[in-house]
Amino acid sequence: MVIQTMWKDRLSFSDLENAVPRIEGLACMGCGLVRCAVPNIAAAEVLGRLAQMVSMPLVADIHYDYKIALRCMDFPIAKIRINPGNIGSTEKVRAVLERAAEKNIPIRIGVNAGSLPRDLRSGAGECPDCNPLNRAEALVEAAKRELAIFDECGFTNVVVSMKASSIADTIKANRILAGSTDVPLHIGVTEAGPLIVGVARSSAALVPLLVEGIGDTLRISLSDSMENEVIAAREILGAAAEIAAIEPQPSPQGVESEIRGSRLEGGSACEARATRLRQGGVRVISCPRCGRYGFDTHSFSSRWLPRLYALDKTISVAIMGCEVNGPEEARHADLGITGTGYKVIIFRHGKVVRTVPAADADAAFAAELDLL
Ligand code: SF4
Repeated sequence: MVIQTMWKDRLSFSDLENAVPRIEGLACMGCGLVRCAVPNIAAAEVLGRLAQMVSMPLVADIHYDYKIALRCMDFPIAKIRINPGNIGSTEKVRAVLERAAEKNIPIRIGVNAGSLPRDLRSGAGECPDCNPLNRAEALVEAAKRELAIFDECGFTNVVVSMKASSIADTIKANRILAGSTDVPLHIGVTEAGPLIVGVARSSAALVPLLVEGIGDTLRISLSDSMENEVIAAREILGAAAEIAAIEPQPSPQGVESEIRGSRLEGGSACEARATRLRQGGVRVISCPRCGRYGFDTHSFSSRWLPRLYALDKTISVAIMGCEVNGPEEARHADLGITGTGYKVIIFRHGKVVRTVPAADADAAFAAELDLL
């Protein structure tokens, strides 16, 4: 499973100095693909330069002008994302596919519920009575039409996404396509919302799909930072892995023990699904904080989360609000921190290993982290 996020600013040569370390930081956090909107040729030039400066695979997101896609492929980009329906004539799509085949660059077909072909739209009086398909079926039909064009051109290096803001449509559409093709799927809920809303809605839609073995790349689309999109994706994958390990799930084809690409039995099928979803890295446990607190878990978490998720260590870290309950409740954690207001306590598996003044909390925590 590859975690993707999307660059949220305009691409500009003057911003490259900031962009490079930020993208490298995302890689450390577990992000494996960054998609960049490329609205014009000038942006394609910036993307090309950026692709030469970072190790992160970059995806060029193109709408309308096939020449932008062609220019992007002069650079070491990892993927093109287009909606062939808005690229124009078949000749233009074919030109993009020929160049992509020549350069061995995959293309993601991005179908979006908000921009379905006119005959597949329903509701809002757009195509009254002419479309017998529901929204999920319409997303699948739109994807299949695009796949057919690619097929005619002999182009198979393709990924499909069918995005909707509806949880039900997202689940249904991806189940249908996963059940009828082997094409790799990028999954996500579009316009999911701000941090809390977006994570809740994305979890509801994506966990069932992931547990069923559906999805090859994912993005949690938040009205929030790229770093939080990556953290959310990791947590959703972790949650799905936990469920996949315990619950046998019917595959989209109704075959009890099948996951894509292999047929396994019972517990091994569960374990295979779980293994595919597990990310490793740091698992953070933090208490919600209450009136007993002597350590501000909220500010410590927001300060430390990006650093913790960038660590290449498979450990659990507990951030607890009070000395009375914290170390005991988090005794399973490899490393924990709590405090009593003026002093901070660092513990391992419930045993105190350091007590320092509150002002030294970050330094002492960092030192203990280094020892793990
Ligand atoms: Fe409250 Fe302490 Fe429990 Fe945190 S660990 S919720 S501060 S009792």
